[in-house]
Amino acid sequence: MTDIRKFYIDGAWVTPNGATPFPMINPATEQKIGDLTLGNAADVDAAVVAAQKGHETLRDWTKAQRIDLLRSIEDQCRKRFEDMAQAQTIEMGAAITSSRNDMIEPAIGQIPYFIEALEELEDRKVLPTGDIEVVEPIGVAGLITPWNYPIYQAALKILPALATGCGCVWKPSEFCAVSAEIYAQVMHDAGVPAGAFNLIYGTGPEVGSAMSKHPGIQMMSFTGSTRGGKAVTIDASDTVKRVALELGGKSPNIVFAGCDLPDRIAGSISDLVLTTGQICDAPSRMLVERSVYAEAVELAAKAADAVQVGDPTQDGPQIGPLVNASQWDRVQGFIQTGIDEGATLAAGGTGRPNDLNTGYYVRPTVFADCTPDMTIVREEIFGPVLVMLPFDTEEDAINMANDTPYGLAAYIQSGDRAQAERVAARLKAGAIHINGAWVNYGSPYGGMKQSGNGREGGHHGLMEYLELKTLHFPEGFE
Ligand code: NAD
Repeated sequence: MTDIRKFYIDGAWVTPNGATPFPMINPATEQKIGDLTLGNAADVDAAVVAAQKGHETLRDWTKAQRIDLLRSIEDQCRKRFEDMAQAQTIEMGAAITSSRNDMIEPAIGQIPYFIEALEELEDRKVLPTGDIEVVEPIGVAGLITPWNYPIYQAALKILPALATGCGCVWKPSEFCAVSAEIYAQVMHDAGVPAGAFNLIYGTGPEVGSAMSKHPGIQMMSFTGSTRGGKAVTIDASDTVKRVALELGGKSPNIVFAGCDLPDRIAGSISDLVLTTGQICDAPSRMLVERSVYAEAVELAAKAADAVQVGDPTQDGPQIGPLVNASQWDRVQGFIQTGIDEGATLAAGGTGRPNDLNTGYYVRPTVFADCTPDMTIVREEIFGPVLVMLPFDTEEDAINMANDTPYGLAAYIQSGDRAQAERVAARLKAGAIHINGAWVNYGSPYGGMKQSGNGREGGHHGLMEYLELKTLHFPEGFE
């Protein structure tokens, strides 16, 4: 059992004010792995005081010192690589190979690109009028992250906050306390000055809300559900904080007849089942040109049936369980709704895969013959469930793709570059993936519409934590 009873505040592991126990469950075994102590508003207060102090230290550091700090964090992450990967497997069920390669490696891989962006950042610019534009850290940043990709999502916030000289208060998901504890120790061992980084645990409605409302926090960066993002926005409004949101999605995947169909359908299913479908930009809504629709359904069903599901602690290509019981119930509910609403089940279905009686495992599922108004077509399922719809013309495909309140990612499978660019220009989404191309380190990442409003990674990721200030001097004042 690994109880977690301490928070990391002002450079030390301290006993929190809150005392509510929260059971941590391994989703593959359904066994309790320990108790986490949840904090309260008083813990937020303590962390904010420390973060203000940490900000005042860090803002006076030179750029070179902050770059050295990022390098030191990179070194420490490499030392704790396996511990972080294993923690994610135990607490959220990520298959270990994927936990290492798809989740921890990118969390470290982003660091050199933040360093490059910081090196290139122009922090003082003389405008043609003679005015001087400077950038400065916004102050104290409140960071809230979800349980999927727990370290990666945190890295995309903590690294730019420290790089720009902010102090930060991080509240990870209560479902991923173990990996958060290790990452906090990484920060400590890397030499982050006391107070600049603080870790507190708690629920969204209590601790998350207290952060969003806190007058000592100047900006909130939130990654999670659209529901949570709306709550943060409302809570932050009284203090008129900057709010950066990375939210949910129902990303369309437009498959044109001219693409390499077998390769692109197989690739699309692999992308869909990554982290057992618990990925915000999963290509979960496949729109297929009618002439190849029947073949695409057959290929997708075959690929979904071939996905291995099983023990996440073993090396291999299998996918693990969903994160917890309520997520399992939710996904089961969506699969049943799809059946009830009349979609054709082409692969998978309700229940666990045959040989897995314990653990929150689900069957990779493909629904064909869906219609745009079905619940499973409109709502984010956050599980390995694909919905497939046919389209007739390029214009139809674009309209169907944009027919969603979300706008995080979109996918295009095409044999024609001009077609891909033409369609990409019309899609309302922050990232357009063409023929399986994935996110590169340092590139901006974020959504449109109800998928959010900020950008993380590289230069744009730094800008989230910076304020612009303009100095106006009278003529002749030398
Ligand atoms: P969630 O919104 O339930 O929780 C995310 C975090 O927000 C947790 O730390 C939680 O404690 C906190 N929270 C919840 N309610 C809050 C409130 N009222 N005020 C402040 N904080 C609150 O989301 P989840 O279930 O942990 O994660 C899944 C969701 O996250 C999905 O919708 C997914 O699409 C989204 N997500 C988005 C991205 C992205 O980059 N756009 C990345 C990963 C996950």
